[in-house]
Parts: sequence; structure tokens; C-alpha cells
Amino acid sequence: MALSSATAPVRSAELRRHNLGLLLGQLRRAPSSRAVLAATTGLTRATVASLLDPLVAAGVLAQGPPSRGGIGRPGRPLWFAPTGPVVVGVSVEVDGLVACVAGLDGGVVHRMQRHRDHAGMEAAEVFGRAARDVRALCARVGRPVVGAGVAVPAPVRGTGPDAELLRAPNLPLLAGARPAELFGRVADRPVLVGNEATLGALAHLGVASDFVYVSAGIGIGGGIVAGGRVLPGAAGLAGEIGHVVIERDGRSCGCGGTGCVEQYAALPALLADAGAGTAAELRVAVRAGEPAALAALGRAGAALGTALTSVLHVVDLPVVVLGGSYTPLGDRLAGLVRDEITRRRPSAAVEVLVSGHGRPAAALGTARAVTDRVLAEPDLLLTAPHTP
Ligand SMILES: [Zn+2]
Repeated sequence: MALSSATAPVRSAELRRHNLGLLLGQLRRAPSSRAVLAATTGLTRATVASLLDPLVAAGVLAQGPPSRGGIGRPGRPLWFAPTGPVVVGVSVEVDGLVACVAGLDGGVVHRMQRHRDHAGMEAAEVFGRAARDVRALCARVGRPVVGAGVAVPAPVRGTGPDAELLRAPNLPLLAGARPAELFGRVADRPVLVGNEATLGALAHLGVASDFVYVSAGIGIGGGIVAGGRVLPGAAGLAGEIGHVVIERDGRSCGCGGTGCVEQYAALPALLADAGAGTAAELRVAVRAGEPAALAALGRAGAALGTALTSVLHVVDLPVVVLGGSYTPLGDRLAGLVRDEITRRRPSAAVEVLVSGHGRPAAALGTARAVTDRVLAEPDLLLTAPHTP
């Protein structure tokens, strides 16, 4: 008896949190009335009202005018209030910073993109400056911030406040850094920290739920998504597609190995091969049909297709999404990659898509991961809103 009475309130709190998370998850996808939410979740209308009405009163949710959509009393659609809480996703890149502020329904409220050479900076400066940028951005948006996350172009061990960056071939001074400590708390909580490609993959869940995501920049990162979930790996190293070897004794790589695909197909290798100074220059040359640019793109596409064939032999997923600095090179690169994969692995068709997000994908995916975390603890939305 003693055990039963001691555990009952806990169960009830957990149940309440679970049901509230379920309702907010529905509202995240589309506005809905209490009656429709009750019908789709199986909760009573009174339970739906008791869970959501405090969030309407707190300004987290807003409701529209009554509309008669069926039998009974007219319903009032609920949605996340346009003046309500927001989350922040930041992507620290080798040569810049991208940040986005998003509502809890995923709608982007504000974006910021900044060029900054992080290659020679100590970790404290990298994350200290990023934190100052985010605080200035939040002040401009003027809505309560309930969480933030930082994506980094390095493998990450752990997910909590102690999350630590492992070797970062393109940002060697960041190895061993703990970004959550250096960034400081946002909304009175430590920031979420994750690998940029793993988080960037999350931004593409609307396109497919089973895919290999490739994010190109100074290096090449990736994420393996199966059943709508990103594979994290035991040591935070899953999806490191850039270090798939395509030439056993090939070019030296920052990871200590040789012949890694990023030495052939990441942006620096591609630009050098094409004789172009910037990605924009390369895009213009490709569109103009310049032979040197087309040949370089052909070699990079074949290299990437070769590496992806090995990945697909192992994970057998039906879709590849090319993102980051590959996005502007678009369908032409996707066609080259698809041709190489098909030639090497004719037994299974694969669709090669181009990310619609490009460079901001990591910041968007980070905002999505932060929202997941907030909605898993929805009572936080009822406490006084914090700004950083
Ligand atoms: Zn490597």
C-alpha cells in the first residue's frame, strides 16, 4: 500500500506530461480545435481543455474565432501564438556562423548568417562570440526564448551539458571543447550540442524518413536516418561519410588517414580542381558549360558516388539527400552521383535529392531538436518565460 500511494502522483504527473506532449505534437503539425484534438488523441474534450487552456492563458497558444466544422458547438482552432516562445538553432561552421530563430511549430522567425574564420580560434572565443551573437539576435526578435542548441562540424561525445567535441580535422583547436560550458546557459538551461550533419539531417524529415544525408562544406559530414531517427553511433561518429576511403593510398586527410572522399569531393578540393575561387564562381562556370568546371564536377560526383555506394551497401536506404554547399550545384551534381551509384550498384534503385535548405540546414535541424526537447518537458512552457 505504501508503495502504491508513493508512486501514484508520479505516474499521474508523467501521464499529464505525456498527454500534453502528444497534444502539442499535433499542434506542431497543424492548427486544430480542442474537439478535433480529443477525437484524434482519444483524450476527453475536458482533459484536452484542462491541459491546453493554461497554455492559452500563458500566451504560448493562441485561438482563432469559433468556426462550425461539424456537429455540436463551434470549435476554436488553436495554434502556437505568433508572439509566443521561440527556440534558437546555431551552426558554428569552419568559416562562419548561421543562426535561426523558430517558433515551436517550426516556422522560422529570423535568420542570421555571418562570415567568420574559426580555423585559428580557441574554443572559448568561438563559442563566446557565437553566444554574444545569439543573445543579440534574441533581443532583436523580442519573444521569449525557451531553448537553444549549437551544431558543430566535429563528432560530439554525449548530448548533455558535458557533451565534448572529439577530433575536429578542420577545426583542430576545438578538440576536447565543451560548447555548452563555453556558450553559457540560454533560458536558464544548458544549450543542446550536436554534430552539424546529424542535426542537419533532422531538417529533412519532411522529405523522407529513411535516407543518407550528405552535408558538404570545407569537409563532408553525414547522417544516417532510418525510421525518422538519426543514428547517433556509440561514440558520436556515425555518418562520417567524408572519411569513407575511396583510394587506399590516396591523398592525406586531416583525420590521419589517406584517400578519404572529402579530399576529392568537399568544396576546397572541388574548387581547386575547377580553378574557381568561390562556390558562386563555380556555379556560374557550371551553368555556362565551361569544360574545366564540368570536368571537375564530374570527378567530384564520381568520387562522392563511389563513397556513397559503399555506404548504401551497408545501410541499404532508398534515398540520398545532398546538402550544404552541394545545394547550389543542384540537379547536375545529383545526376552525376546517381549515375555512379547506379553503375556500381545496379541491383537497387536509389533516389538522389538536393536539399532545399542548403547551408542553413544544420541551424534549422538544431532548432527542431531543441523543440523536441522542449515539448518533451512541456511544463517548462508554463513557467515564467526566460530570455538569455
Ligand atoms: Zn579522413
